[in-house]
Amino acid sequence: MHTEIIAVGTEILLGQIINTNAAFVARRLAGMGIDVYHQTVVGDNSQRLTQAIKIAAKRNDLIILMGGLGPTKDDLTKQTVANFLKKKLIEDADAMKKIIHYYAASEKEMTANNRLQAQYIAGSVPLKNETGFAVGEYYQNDHGCDFLLLPGPPNELKPMFANFAQPLLYKKYHNNHLLFSRVLRFFGIGESLLATKIEDLIDKQSNPTIAPYAKTSEVTLRLTASAVDEYEAKQLLDETEEKICSRVGEYMYGYGDENSLVKVVVQKLLQAGLSITAAESLTAGAFQAALGDVPGVSSVFPGGFVTYANSAKSGLLDIPARIIQTNGVVSEETAKWMARKSKEKMETDIGISFTGVAGPDALEGKEAGTVWIGLAFKDRPVQAKLYHFARQRSLVRERSVLTGLDWIRR
Ligand code: ATP
Ligand code: MG
Repeated sequence: MHTEIIAVGTEILLGQIINTNAAFVARRLAGMGIDVYHQTVVGDNSQRLTQAIKIAAKRNDLIILMGGLGPTKDDLTKQTVANFLKKKLIEDADAMKKIIHYYAASEKEMTANNRLQAQYIAGSVPLKNETGFAVGEYYQNDHGCDFLLLPGPPNELKPMFANFAQPLLYKKYHNNHLLFSRVLRFFGIGESLLATKIEDLIDKQSNPTIAPYAKTSEVTLRLTASAVDEYEAKQLLDETEEKICSRVGEYMYGYGDENSLVKVVVQKLLQAGLSITAAESLTAGAFQAALGDVPGVSSVFPGGFVTYANSAKSGLLDIPARIIQTNGVVSEETAKWMARKSKEKMETDIGISFTGVAGPDALEGKEAGTVWIGLAFKDRPVQAKLYHFARQRSLVRERSVLTGLDWIRR
């Protein structure tokens, strides 16, 4: 099932508007397990559009065209596709009524080309436009590829696609099966390594499909199963999740589109009734700010310390100056002292600390990206771990926060 999206419009080609319609439709199709293999943009030109359609028709089962269904001279998508298919245009009575009614009520003059908006290609299913005038259409082709035509204005395209086109596509490509998705979230493993570890699963995928997405610092896998009901879907998804987790389960921290590492950690702390504080040097409060993003965290997070300068580490945390002088500020010892002292002073179950080189310059002969994270957890011996992150300042700080959270999660 190969699909190509063709956006029609010189405005897009020239960069005057952004092709948000393609993003919307592509995301929806991915959610349905329909593969988009190509996206094309063509100007308002019949000849070049015909060329694009010819190319697309050779390599796809479905072509989705968007834009150019309007009444003006540059709107020629419908006519061009009709010519390609050697079909006539016929009028949709309901759409025509709506247009006539509008012009009667507004006392504007209706011109011949307004009729065009109510026309669709013979043999296709017209798609109602609830927020505009131009009808869309879905043409099922027994001898070639299918065509779906959608209007350009996003406020017309979105409801038409969601309410009328999507159900037809489901029916055709899923034998009345429904789609069920599950999102697995990972931290601490890059997209390429993750993909390599489950390469054979991805290669063999059919139901459920497995789609990796990478964001800065984390990766998600979307599993999409086609099934007759939720029960069957759960079985299919569980089975695939199990296979994935037997290889990379240690990096998985949660489920869901809207989830995040900090939410999972705060949830765990709330459930276990564990309170937390932090002493932050290079992250300058970013860890605590992340905690603060989660509603309800106040019952486990009383507050903490931003100790950027050495004087603050001594002054606020009572770390003896000689500890920092002897070991360096970016050191195992300093990280441990910061974690332990913050925990003692705030009387929490957990104290975590961050000290490192955010960059761009080196510090104490240590390169940017060198970070020590300390963890004081209840009565356990205080630990500290050394990390070498990418050298870009914002990334070093972000990775530090997330790595600290991930340590607590484990
Ligand atoms: P109309 O009846 O308004 O002419 P149409 O179906 O002919 O609709 P176009 O003329 O191609 O569509 O585009 C109308 C407007 O819709 C554009 O000016 C632009 O604002 C928006 N639009 C068109 N295509 C896209 C797209 N791919 N992504 C986002 N917006 C778009
Ligand atoms: Mg137009």
